[in-house]
Amino acid sequence: MTTRARRCSQRPSGLEKPRPHWQILTSPFRKSKTKPNGKKPPAEEKKLYLDPEFTKIRVVDFDLKELVVLPREIDLNEWLASNTTTFFNLINLQYSTISEFCTGETCQAMTAWNTIYYWYDERGKKTKCTAPQYVDFVMSLCQKLVTDEEIFPTKYGKEFPNSFESLVKKICRYLFHVLAHLYWAHFKETVALDLQGHLNTLYAHFIVFVREFNLIDPKETCIMDDLSEVLCTPAPLPVPTPAPSTPASAPSPSSQNHVTER
Ligand SMILES: [Zn+2]
Repeated sequence: MTTRARRCSQRPSGLEKPRPHWQILTSPFRKSKTKPNGKKPPAEEKKLYLDPEFTKIRVVDFDLKELVVLPREIDLNEWLASNTTTFFNLINLQYSTISEFCTGETCQAMTAWNTIYYWYDERGKKTKCTAPQYVDFVMSLCQKLVTDEEIFPTKYGKEFPNSFESLVKKICRYLFHVLAHLYWAHFKETVALDLQGHLNTLYAHFIVFVREFNLIDPKETCIMDDLSEVLCTPAPLPVPTPAPSTPASAPSPSSQNHVTER
C-alpha cells in the first residue's frame, strides 16, 4: 500500500482522483456479449505485454498444471468453488492497483485488443458502459454469486445447485475480460507499479485452470492466445553454468558432494 501511495503521487496530472472501483451495485443477473469493433488498434499500442523483457517476469516459475489438477479425495465442485473464489479475489485486487487510471475518460469502453465488451442487462438490453462501469458490474456480480450460500455452499452436507457449473463458467468469462483489459489498457501502469510479475503469474494460473476444466470457450480467450502461449509454458530451466575446467586429477570430496547435490 505504501508503494502504491508513493507511485500514485507520481501519476500524470489530469487524471481523476482514486475511486473505489466497484462501489456501484447493480443487478447481478446480467449478461455481456463480445463484439469486435472492426477497428485496428493504434500502431503505438503494440502489445507491450508480449515483449520478452516482460513475459519472462513471474512471481514463481512453476508448472502451474500441478496447481490446478483436481486433487484426489477432493470433490470437483468444491475445487471449482474454492479456486473461482480465489481468482475473483485476486483479480479484483490486481485491478484495484490500477483502478485510479481506469476512468470513464481514459477507458470509455471495455476494450481488449480489437474487442469491445458490451454489458447486457437481465432483459437482454444492450448497455453501453465505460470500462470502470463494466468492471463494477463484473465484480458486483461475482461478489453476489460467490457469497450466495445457495450457489457456493460452505456448510457441510449442503449440495451445489444444478446451475453451479454454468455460473462458474460465467464468472470465469467475466474475470477473463478484466484480465484482458488490464493487459490491453493498463499494462504500462502495471509495469510502472512493478506488478507485471504478479499479473503474469495470476494470468497464467487462471488460464491453466480454466483450460483444465473447460470453463471458457476458446473463442472467447483467443484474443490473448499469443500471451497465453508464452506465459502458460513453464519457463525454461536456467542453463547451468559450466564448471571451470580443472586439472585431470581426482576431484576433491567437496566437489563430489557439490555435484551430487545438484
Ligand atoms: Zn481501463
